[in-house]
Amino acid sequence: MGIIVQKFGGTSVATDETRLNVIDKITAAKEKGENVVVVVSAMGRKGSPYATDTLLSLAPHLGLREKDLLMSCGELISACVLASQLTEKGHEARVLTGAQAGIVTNDNFGDANIIAVNPGEITSCLADDVIPIITGFQGISESGNVTTIGRGGSDTTAAIVGEAIKADGIEIYTDVNGIMTADPRVFPQAKVIDNISYSEVFQMADSGAKVIHPRAVEVARRAGIPLYIKNTFSNDEGTAILHCPKYESTVLEGEVCKVITSIAHKNNRIQFILEQSSMEDVTIFPLLADSGVSLDIINIFPDKKVFTVDSKHFNGVVKVLEQCNIHYTAIKDCSKVTLIGERMTGVPGVMAKIITALQNENIPLLQTADSLTTIACLIYRKDLERAVDVLHRIFEI
Ligand code: ADP
Ligand code: MG
Repeated sequence: MGIIVQKFGGTSVATDETRLNVIDKITAAKEKGENVVVVVSAMGRKGSPYATDTLLSLAPHLGLREKDLLMSCGELISACVLASQLTEKGHEARVLTGAQAGIVTNDNFGDANIIAVNPGEITSCLADDVIPIITGFQGISESGNVTTIGRGGSDTTAAIVGEAIKADGIEIYTDVNGIMTADPRVFPQAKVIDNISYSEVFQMADSGAKVIHPRAVEVARRAGIPLYIKNTFSNDEGTAILHCPKYESTVLEGEVCKVITSIAHKNNRIQFILEQSSMEDVTIFPLLADSGVSLDIINIFPDKKVFTVDSKHFNGVVKVLEQCNIHYTAIKDCSKVTLIGERMTGVPGVMAKIITALQNENIPLLQTADSLTTIACLIYRKDLERAVDVLHRIFEI
């Protein structure tokens, strides 16, 4: 008998009715003879009564330690409600908080790192043939404080638990049919990808594809456990994330269109332009780093500096620039569109194709960045849908 970790996101555990689909997934795996370990997120999405943001809005003046305590309640409520419904259907379940599941973190409230997992309670549930339901997104620090591990953290909980109990598979259940070639909310014609490598999904997740948290992909890759993204509300196969063999064929001339496998995006970008800026102005970068601002895209020229940040860092950047008496222009409401493809390394003409396509659609390109396997373009948010549409088309993704 194998062990499967099944993680259910907010929309999956939102109502009595949706939880029936969750119970179907759990029981189907058990009927196949699997041991099932369940990880849940808080119920519903933004605006739902027990969603993380709603809980936070109840107590806006809390300090970091208490904020983590409050946020951790969302998953606890969700786990208890699911356990109750499982009991009603005749299945024995035991709710485990992060602490009870043995998830030990550092003390970095709100974005804690998991440093150890002691899965004794989980394995004893399985030995008793009881379904463990673990509250996602949280752990306990060595000093005994409840901590949370950052938004999207339940995916990481599932992966790290899977690693600790040597699971045979980690299934992430959500509201789409798998990993798609672009976010279906921005590009409804996006297609489901059947198989994809850890590294490619990591790039997608890191570039903003919210369907899976990048840390979860990293952990699953490290443990060598297959990760599946599936729809709670369908019986589709979903996406399998594995160590895919390296592409064997080299890209031939004229095949530039086949090198991109997906497009991801991040909204809420703000671009800062420092015109007439001198070489000495580079001193702002250590100051920005010290104030916790992480830069997204950055380009430095002798007489000009351009960088992009998440809008949450806007005030932090403005403070540093004003402190240093530096004039700037800020362009708000930008989006970063990233094209991902492991085969693009060394293929000429990819960037040229992007620039031409955006120009033909009258979409201004504000900034670019590239790595071996990604090309990112900063554009206005209002152009996002059109940009993803044209790029998806010209690269025949
Ligand atoms: P959950 O609450 O189940 O964790 P999330 O909202 O975190 O769900 O993730 C699922 C959402 O991810 C989908 O509804 C979809 O809009 C979004 N998404 C973004 N990029 C992609 C992609 N490439 N493939 C599939 N879904 C994506
Ligand atoms: Mg998620």
